[in-house]
Amino acid sequence: MLSGADPARPLIEARGIRKSYGDLEILKGVDLTVHQRELVFLLGPSGSGKSTLLRCCNLLEQPTGGSLKVEGVDMLSPATDINKMRQRIGMVFQSFNLYPHLTVSGNVTLALRKVLKMSRDEAEARALANLKLVGMDHKADSFPSQLSGGQQQRVGIARSLALEPSVILMDEPTSALDPELVGSVLAVIKELRDRGMTMVIASHEMNFAREAADKVLFLDGGVIVEEGTAEQIFTNAREERTRRFLSQVR
Ligand code: ADP
Ligand code: MG
Repeated sequence: MLSGADPARPLIEARGIRKSYGDLEILKGVDLTVHQRELVFLLGPSGSGKSTLLRCCNLLEQPTGGSLKVEGVDMLSPATDINKMRQRIGMVFQSFNLYPHLTVSGNVTLALRKVLKMSRDEAEARALANLKLVGMDHKADSFPSQLSGGQQQRVGIARSLALEPSVILMDEPTSALDPELVGSVLAVIKELRDRGMTMVIASHEMNFAREAADKVLFLDGGVIVEEGTAEQIFTNAREERTRRFLSQVR
């Protein structure tokens, strides 16, 4: 899953990212550094800017200030081929966003065929390999409506993985799931982490963050209030705002 890139160079280097909608400033100068193989967790109350930050990282939202490099490439330079760079950055959404009229296999092969111009056989083989990684190869011919939410999300993850991104951004990947289905998706994320996949995850799964995150960022009001290892943040947060948030959600 690692590209030939310099392992010492961060995959994502966001500096002073700002995002405003009209007069309303949502991100007020956020720094985010993500190294290869790291699992970075974004915590923060609803409305703190987690989704906006993730969306700025692949330019689903255009930052209104700051600098952003992915794999060393300046994402905000007009000279950069944004579509090409977006392929390097996978995205997994809360609501899965699978195409209901396509099978599981069809959902995973679509971008492989359209974007990577793979042959049908090649795309299907790659789809199956990635579905296998998330334990969904046996459902390749099913339609999304025939799957549980947890299974749909695992297909969403396989679809993202199949494009072989250097990093995957996950925006509350388990928030839409019934509690009993959350574990299967977290298990897949853990497995990816153990395989060296780089991920940035906005989530309220505190136990999982504690167990799996290399780095935790606490966002509130569009700023990073505090950043540290999971251990530091959960047992020894410096900031009152962080401690208050953690005591409310636990
Ligand atoms: P989080 O993911 O942490 O809940 P968001 O990034 O979704 O936070 O939102 C941060 C703030 O930005 C919220 O107050 C939200 O209402 C606002 N916001 C998000 N998207 C837009 C938009 N397209 N236009 C105006 N305001 C927005
Ligand atoms: Mg959000």
